[in-house]
Amino acid sequence: FADRDGVIWFDGELVPWRDAKVHVLTHTLHYGMGVFEGVRAYHAGENGTSIFRLQEHTDRLFRSAHIMNMKMPWSKDEVNEAQRLVVRENNLNEAYLRPMAFLGSEGMGLRADNLKVHLIVAAWDWPSYMSPEAKEIGIKVRVSSYTRHHVNISMCKAKANGHYINSMLALKEALDCGCEEALLLDAEGYVAEGSGENVFIVRNGVIYTPELTSCLDGITRNTIFQLADECGYKIVEKRISRDEVYVADEAFFTGTAAEVLPIRELDGRQIGPGHRGPITEKLQSLYFAAVRGELPQHREWLAPVSN
Ligand code: PMP
Repeated sequence: FADRDGVIWFDGELVPWRDAKVHVLTHTLHYGMGVFEGVRAYHAGENGTSIFRLQEHTDRLFRSAHIMNMKMPWSKDEVNEAQRLVVRENNLNEAYLRPMAFLGSEGMGLRADNLKVHLIVAAWDWPSYMSPEAKEIGIKVRVSSYTRHHVNISMCKAKANGHYINSMLALKEALDCGCEEALLLDAEGYVAEGSGENVFIVRNGVIYTPELTSCLDGITRNTIFQLADECGYKIVEKRISRDEVYVADEAFFTGTAAEVLPIRELDGRQIGPGHRGPITEKLQSLYFAAVRGELPQHREWLAPVSN
């Protein structure tokens, strides 16, 4: 992955992909204190290639940095511009973008004073997280034996590098069991989220999703709230138990990488008819229309990369 052509924005410079390196004593590599985003750009009709909800991702990156006491060395406008630039400079029609702020190799202690905050923005072609069939038939999921972060152990509102140890353990366990994704419960045993997605269920025409207490404030989640509202669907944020998911009519994950992904089975129990349900299908198709610039009322969600 490191050995390829292209450029990465690194502390304000466009660096050849292969040369975008750090020292082995980079602080974040040791302790995981860093913050990042996962962002997508789509080909959006006459707008051309456009970054979806760029400002919201940049805002969350800065909130994550604030939570983690990392002082961002760039302004939000500069970070937005860096993201548009890397998509353009790598000639990407559609892209996954990875802005990340990390602590440098100026020192090693946990005190972490006098460390420089560095910022990179990489972008590459990453078509789909799941197979095209998965978007229609849905995926098999299992409840993880790993608990999601507790609000007072790690800071759930931050999209922080170290948090993803928990996600990776959960995902590996799920994959080893023949499933495609994990569903993590919070410290009290209620449904929190997937390894990298928020979760929704549908019952009797009403959409439910966990409150944000121990899950990430997903931008796709927020997009779904707005799209569902425009269709007249009711969304309720509430505590959800795992057996409520078993007896739901529909269930789906949302995330920038996963997009809108139906869940067809949880812990060996078929959910609803065992394939994508009608409300999931409707919201999924609206989501793809939104990212591709086909919803005129949501042009403000698109940041074209061209000048
Ligand atoms: N939860 C977790 C743990 C995630 O990593 C992600 C992906 N960023 C999400 C939820 C979904 O967030 P978004 O819709 O902003 O990508």
